[in-house]
Amino acid sequence: MSPNESGGGARKVRGIVLFLAYLLSLLLIAVAYGAQGATPPIPTPSPLAEDAAFAAFLKDFRAEALNAGIKAETYDAATSGIVRNQRVADHNLNQPEFVKPIWEYLDSAVSPRRVADGRTVMIANTEILAQVSAKYGTPGEILVSIWGNESDYGRGGGGYKMIEALATLAYSGPRSDYARPQLIAALKMIEREHYDPASMTSSWAGAFGQTQFVPTTFLAQAVDGDGDGKIDLWHDVPDALASTANVLAMAGWAKDKPWGYEVALPSGFAYDDADLDLTKSVATWKKAGVKTAAGNELPASGDPASIFLPAGAQGPAFLVFANFKTILRYNNAASYALAVCLLGDQLKGASPVLAAWPRSLKPLSRDERLALQDSLVQLGFDIGKVDGLIGAKSRAAVRAWQKAHAVPADGYATLEIASRIALDARVKLAVP
Ligand code: CA
Repeated sequence: MSPNESGGGARKVRGIVLFLAYLLSLLLIAVAYGAQGATPPIPTPSPLAEDAAFAAFLKDFRAEALNAGIKAETYDAATSGIVRNQRVADHNLNQPEFVKPIWEYLDSAVSPRRVADGRTVMIANTEILAQVSAKYGTPGEILVSIWGNESDYGRGGGGYKMIEALATLAYSGPRSDYARPQLIAALKMIEREHYDPASMTSSWAGAFGQTQFVPTTFLAQAVDGDGDGKIDLWHDVPDALASTANVLAMAGWAKDKPWGYEVALPSGFAYDDADLDLTKSVATWKKAGVKTAAGNELPASGDPASIFLPAGAQGPAFLVFANFKTILRYNNAASYALAVCLLGDQLKGASPVLAAWPRSLKPLSRDERLALQDSLVQLGFDIGKVDGLIGAKSRAAVRAWQKAHAVPADGYATLEIASRIALDARVKLAVP
């Protein structure tokens, strides 16, 4: 599971001030070193002051934890000796220059090696998968696929001390509002499950175990899959698989229903209908000329479905049902849900995606994404915050612009579309 982006209030302002001070120090050092052409060292903003501020935060947060019912001795033992983790802080502020295109993401998420390993662990866990699927109604290949996507079947997803990572995120930066309740939940895990805080490992973002639960989800939905009286998502695979199945079941996974499948769209398809928030009956999609990827009629179904174009009009198309959206409840990224579903299909022997990905399309750099958002704002679109992250609002604005300019309205921002939108914005500025 990935934490949602969140932030706010005074903590956010403090984070921004610290970050601006950091940027200013970078600039000053760059100017100082620029003349000699040497590489400047990476500055750390007064580590002593930072350590003192972190210690003060831990002291303040103690009252909040005690207020939430955590025992003083639990808090003191769990936070004893922890420091502000610089690697976590760096991850927290990292703004990627390029967002990986979906085809590159799938290349590693659904690699032949990932498929082969998944088939091996499916065989090794046949019995527990059958039990869990029977109890929760979630197919074994989807559970194993989540396991593969979250931790590469238990190989990754650790490396940090959970309490230290969550405290670092709660202390400052954009994920403070996410991390504060997670830190309280992690302390509750210690009390309820009698874990040793030192052995609680997590990702930098505080997700942990074979299927990367966050502490609040653990408290609400983790279960003891092997019936040994303890829940251990780090080491007990049956616990991790059953807990994951429980999350999907509680999110509404419909037993024996498909997640969806690849389709082929007819020429002249109304691309603005391809939207995960827009559902129509399969019969309606049939009438619009949508076929299976192999060119056959869509199988009859009474369930509503959406058309999903992960790489826009130039890439593969998928017809997705409610179960696809259930996976979004596990991790709210459509690319993640697609990776889980496609790996799941291949684990049970299905072929890879038939249509080609538009691999020649270059991803927009962060500056190009910011410029696109600026242009959209100039053209009067509401895109929320200009933050370089192309989210639902930015995509809707691109789609609206495309519609007004008789371009296939897939909402997918290619470099070509971005430059046309920029030109449009410049013309608007010149001719008010
Ligand atoms: Ca157990």
